[in-house]
Amino acid sequence: MSSTLVTGIGELVTCAGDPADPLGVIHDAALVEEGGEVAWVGPASQAPAADERVDVEGRAVLPGFVDSHSHLVFAGDRAAEFAARMAGEPYDGGGIGVSVAATRAASDDELRSLLAARLTEMRAQGTTTVEVKSGYGLTVEDEARALRIARELTDEVTFLGAHVVPSEYAGGPGSCGDRAAYVSLVTGPMLEACAPHARWVDVFCEPHSAHAFTQEEARAVLTAGRDAGLLLRVHGNQLGHGPGVQLAVELGAASVDHCTYLSDADVDALAGAADTTVATLLPGVEFSTRSPYPDAAKLLAAGVSVALATDCNPGTCYSSSMPFVIALAVREMGLTPGQAVHAATAGSAKSLRREDIGRLAVGSRADLCVLDAPSHLHLSYRAGVPIARSLRLGERGATSPDSGP
Ligand SMILES: [Zn+2]
Repeated sequence: MSSTLVTGIGELVTCAGDPADPLGVIHDAALVEEGGEVAWVGPASQAPAADERVDVEGRAVLPGFVDSHSHLVFAGDRAAEFAARMAGEPYDGGGIGVSVAATRAASDDELRSLLAARLTEMRAQGTTTVEVKSGYGLTVEDEARALRIARELTDEVTFLGAHVVPSEYAGGPGSCGDRAAYVSLVTGPMLEACAPHARWVDVFCEPHSAHAFTQEEARAVLTAGRDAGLLLRVHGNQLGHGPGVQLAVELGAASVDHCTYLSDADVDALAGAADTTVATLLPGVEFSTRSPYPDAAKLLAAGVSVALATDCNPGTCYSSSMPFVIALAVREMGLTPGQAVHAATAGSAKSLRREDIGRLAVGSRADLCVLDAPSHLHLSYRAGVPIARSLRLGERGATSPDSGP
C-alpha cells in the first residue's frame, strides 16, 4: 500500500484536540496518508518517510468540510422567487412545488448530471462529504429515483418524502385535499420503496407553513422511518417557534436543522441531548430569506452540539459554499472563526454519526481542505474569496486538488 507525506503545512487544524482545545492546531505540521486514511500527524520535523510527498508550501490544512444538509437532486430555476423575496414577498415553503414539477419532468440523466455538477462545485470549495436529500419527487417512483441517483455519488442519503404535501393532495382545483392520504403514502409504500436506498429519514415539521407537516404528522413519518431501519433528521423551528426541536430530542434524532427560532426550553432540551442530537444551523437560509439569525454563541455556551451546513437548495439558499456559511456564522451568529470551523467539520460529522470524517487523526479519512492562506482565520476574514479547495488523498491514487469520489 503506498503512502503520501503532506508536508509544509503552516497550520494543521485537526479538530481532534481535547475539550479545552477542540481545534487541536499544530503549527509547522505534516500528515501521512496510507490507504485513504490518516496514518500519522505531528510536527514536520518528526515526520516519517513515505512513498510520495506533497508540499503545500506553508498553507493551512483543515479537515474537509462536511456539508450535512443539502437538497441537490432537483431541476429547474427559482431565481425569480429569490428576487421577489428580496422585493418584499414573504417565504412560506410554497415554492417547493415549482421544483417538484421541474424535477418530475427531468430524465434520470439530467438529474444525475445536475447532481454531479453541484457536487463538483462543492468539492472545489473544500467540501469532502455531502448529505443529499430527496424531496422534489413526492411520488413513490420519483422519490426512489432521486435516492437511487444520490446514492451513486454519496453515502449520506436522506429520504425526504415529507418535504411538503404535494399539490395533488393539498387541496385546491384537481386535488383530493386529503393530507392524511399523503402521510399514509409516505409512511407506507413510499417508505418501502425508498428505505433500501437511504440511511436517513427527514421531515419538514413546520406549523407556520401550510405546505409542511404538523407535529403529529412528523412523528408518524419519523417513527415509520425508524421502524424501517432509518436514522432520523428533522427540519424544525425554521419559520417560527414550533415542536420540531422537542420532537427531534424525544425521538433521538441525530440532528435538528434550522433552529432559527428557539425557546429557552428548546435550548435546554438540546443541551440535555448534546450527545445524541446536534443543532444544525443553516445561516445561508437566513441570508437568502432575509430572516433573523439564531444565536449560535448562546447555544454553544449552553452546551448544545452545533453543526453548520449549507442547505443548498433551489428555493431558500442556492449556495454550495461552506466558506460562505462559516463567514456568516462568524459575522451574524456570534461564533469565533475557530468555533465556526469546528462546527463545519467535526460538528457536522457528529450530526451524521460519523467519527471517520470531520477530523484529522490517525484512522480518520484523509479528506483535507487546503487554504490558500496561512490560517483558518482567513475563511471568515477573507469572506467571498475562493481560498478553499478539497484534497482527497489515497482514493484511486488521487493526490491532486479537487479530486473527488
Ligand atoms: Zn433543508
